[in-house]
Amino acid sequence: MNIFEKIIAREIPATIVYEDGDTLAFMDIGPIIKGHTLVIPKTCYDPVTETPDEVLAKLMLVCKRIAAAQIKGLGADGSNIIQNNGSAAGQVVPHIHFHVIPRFEGDGHRWNWNAKKYDSPAEMEKLAAKIREGLAG
Ligand code: 5GP
Repeated sequence: MNIFEKIIAREIPATIVYEDGDTLAFMDIGPIIKGHTLVIPKTCYDPVTETPDEVLAKLMLVCKRIAAAQIKGLGADGSNIIQNNGSAAGQVVPHIHFHVIPRFEGDGHRWNWNAKKYDSPAEMEKLAAKIREGLAG
């Protein structure tokens, strides 16, 4: 059982903010910004590419509700909704989850959004062609 399945089974405690038949939302113990909430399905899927469309759709609707509740309840000015896949992307818990992170003007958090440049338009086009191939396959 992964740590989130233990939370679902109430084997370990969590501070739950929302629950329905398929979904659980609870406070992240290591908040990027206080109020950081995790949204998970009660059935374990991982990664996003192996998660059924209807499960993803439901998760995103709950994320939307949590983000709205962070604005209304916490006075947040915005949010980041993040979902990591694989250790290369920084994923730690192998159970699909969305991070809904409330953001406040002047909260001081900065993502290390280290934007790069393509060597040329041709390089960008070459990579786009490979993604299109992936979409077609
Ligand atoms: P990931 O890096 O896999 O996208 O994010 C996993 C998240 O789960 C982290 O933000 C981490 O703080 C959170 N987390 C890990 N273990 C626990 C736990 O036992 N309880 C709660 N509430 N959050 C956890």
